Amino acid sequence: MSIEAKNIIDGEFIEGSTGEKRERCNPATGELVGSFIASTSEDVEDAIYSARKAFEDSPWATDTKLRVRVLREMSEAILHNLEHLSKIQTSENGKILQDSRRELTSAADLFDYYSGLVRSVTGRTHMPDNNTMSFVIREPIGVVGIIAPWNAPMVLLARSLAPALAAGNTVVIKPASYTPVSIFEFLKHILEDTKHIPKGVINLVIGSGETVGAALVKHKEVDFISFTGSTNAGAIVMQEASVNIKRLSLELGGKTPNIILEDADIESAVQGAIRGSMLGSAGQICFAGTRVLIHNKIYEEVKDQIVDIISKLKIGNGMDEGVDVGPVVSKGQLKNVMNYISEGKKVAKLLTGGKHLNKNEHSKGYFIEPTIFGDVPPESKIAQEEIFGPVISLIRCRNTVEMANIANNTKFGLSAAIWTKKIGDALRLARKIKAGIVWINTYGKMYSEAETGTYKQSGIGGTLRGIEALNTFSEIKNILINIE
Ligand code: NAD
Repeated sequence: MSIEAKNIIDGEFIEGSTGEKRERCNPATGELVGSFIASTSEDVEDAIYSARKAFEDSPWATDTKLRVRVLREMSEAILHNLEHLSKIQTSENGKILQDSRRELTSAADLFDYYSGLVRSVTGRTHMPDNNTMSFVIREPIGVVGIIAPWNAPMVLLARSLAPALAAGNTVVIKPASYTPVSIFEFLKHILEDTKHIPKGVINLVIGSGETVGAALVKHKEVDFISFTGSTNAGAIVMQEASVNIKRLSLELGGKTPNIILEDADIESAVQGAIRGSMLGSAGQICFAGTRVLIHNKIYEEVKDQIVDIISKLKIGNGMDEGVDVGPVVSKGQLKNVMNYISEGKKVAKLLTGGKHLNKNEHSKGYFIEPTIFGDVPPESKIAQEEIFGPVISLIRCRNTVEMANIANNTKFGLSAAIWTKKIGDALRLARKIKAGIVWINTYGKMYSEAETGTYKQSGIGGTLRGIEALNTFSEIKNILINIE
């Protein structure tokens, strides 16, 4: 089945203005998944005009009951199409099917949660003196541009889209160039099953970051940019958005420390280290626990168990039951990751993996063996940079103080995990770590209702979860009345 991914503007599925098409193939098999268009800045202009018109002229921004109903319908539409959408996502970005299903379930939950919050966009009232009444209200910002990555495309789009819509904004979405088909199908099914959404509230423009993404960021009729992607691209977006003081939120890269203290339950910590390395997505997850910091006293035991389990994992097409590790997303990504593995071999011990698999059932895809390096120097490139592949660095540590220092010593501050039986020690360490979420004796769980933050170069500009995300996607206005 090959799908033609089109733009969605003012409720219509349309071709881009140039008619130029590209193909997207499955990174596990090389089979065609679909085609997509390369839009221009004129297409972006049309989409922004459609979103602006829907914001100004439709009841969307002001009718809260309509938004409750639509967000609920969107959640149901995702659940109704969950199996189809999971398969499309796996065929386009390669992650194992059970991870796609889990992400789609979380996406449906985000819309469900924000449908319940639509009527909680509230302000405050003051009477600063006898003759004055003051109302602080929250209003939708206007047209929101959402720029999304490919590694978890549907749930990460939902994470921005659900609160942006709940707060009353209209949107123009730009998907990543590796997952245009997934996002087209996701939005097409949502729009087809969502009877009450006014035309133009959700628009999609497919194309490159340099053309479509940059046009959205610079356009004066786009009031807010919600960007999820790499720290490098985020820095460019921030710079370009400054031209018209555009509001923005950036969710960027990470290099998560997964910290195993000397008294940890070893079996759970080992399982947590394996789960945390997100190998179903070949490690291509922003919060993957790629630095495992292990106390010296248990280092050998933990290392041996992690290596033993990871070296036996099944690598293959994410569509097949029983596969644990999918391919990386592209030839370019394969090359990047293999370069990091070569760097790693120069500074640390290769404990397992390290090879590009390209024979037999792996011959048509971009498969890399899960790779573990031991005794990795914390300052080395593989322990500092985001590899975005199935590569894990084990770092030997002497005590908790050293663990906290190493954990904090990268430019990122997205997430962290701690494994210990002493909850007091875990809480003290959690306070020291500069990360927007810290898991204790668990890994990777996130809830729609629980805000997460970002420290340092992992992001800026407001959370995309919980009730606080309504503040991210709304403006404050103070209205004062003289009641003399
Ligand atoms: P990327 O930065 O290459 O691209 C992200 C999106 O930005 C894509 O849609 C791309 O086309 C667009 N883009 C690129 N350059 C642009 C520009 N100059 N102007 C406007 N748009 C531009 O990232 P990616 O490779 O798609 O995703 C992987 C990265 O995303 C990793 O660094 C990962 O950690 C990060 N990420 C972060 C989170 C988070 O929640 N913090 C979640 C997922 C991924």
